[in-house]
Amino acid sequence: MRAGDPADPLLLQVLPQAAELVAVPGFVDDAVGDLSARSAHGVLQKYAGRALLIATGSCAVNCRYCFRRHFPYAEETAASNGWREAVAQLRADGSISEVILSGGDPLSLATAKLRELTTQLATIPHLRRLRIHTRLPVVLPERVDDELTAWLRDLPWPIAIVLHANHANELDACVSDACARLVAGGVTLLNQSVLLARVNDNADALADLSERLFACRVLPYYLHQLDQVRGAAHFAVRDEDALALVTRLRQRLPGYLVPRLVREIAGVAHKVPL
Ligand SMILES: *Cc1c(COP(=O)(O)O)cnc(C)c1O
Ligand code: SF4
Repeated sequence: MRAGDPADPLLLQVLPQAAELVAVPGFVDDAVGDLSARSAHGVLQKYAGRALLIATGSCAVNCRYCFRRHFPYAEETAASNGWREAVAQLRADGSISEVILSGGDPLSLATAKLRELTTQLATIPHLRRLRIHTRLPVVLPERVDDELTAWLRDLPWPIAIVLHANHANELDACVSDACARLVAGGVTLLNQSVLLARVNDNADALADLSERLFACRVLPYYLHQLDQVRGAAHFAVRDEDALALVTRLRQRLPGYLVPRLVREIAGVAHKVPL
């Protein structure tokens, strides 16, 4: 963040604003139907073959647009009871080939706690991939320490880590080093971002983000249209503006640096491209 700049795109992501208190029709607590997708304690299953674990409610930042900002974390974390309920569900459902650690931020857990989970997951024969959704390598790159990379290297599956960065300024030299350590450990690095008014809703910001991600060995994956969660309406970008931005990105960047513009619609079997 640039000191003294109230319009700084990193500051705006975390600064509480009075606009959050204005009720806007359509912006609700459970914007993407998480609660009805719950299959066990801390486990969400919406899509074929994939189960998402709410590993923890803790997070290193509190993004003001977070779609889980009203999620009942205290009751719904997979780590409680030594992961027992969550692991039992994953073991019982032979259709699950990929486990996604999410939250909150799963890397806010101690590495020993993560190892406790993956030791149990390693005994489930139908699991083929592990994915980790985390913002920690971006906001606290020191988290990618030797203990974490040793844990990743010991895992028996191919690993994808999906980072969350919305602006090129988030990706400084420390973040780049953390990404290099992950890549050296054989991890596939992707990024998801959210299209946010005044943060990254212009073609220059999005193109710079893609370029900077690739310089850090990260491929852009999703660009999310904002989930309509209560208190986040001031971040919304109109669909026609979002589509126009992606068209401009396609005109400027190689195809692999253009993220897929998607929206999550409760009840649909996949993220929905715009
Ligand atoms: C977004 C999401 C996923 C992952 O979807 P992909 O399209 O595979 O990235 C999985 N489970 C839940 C509950 C999700 O919300
Ligand atoms: S990092 Fe992710 S889980 Fe944490 S507050 Fe931001 S959007 Fe929410």
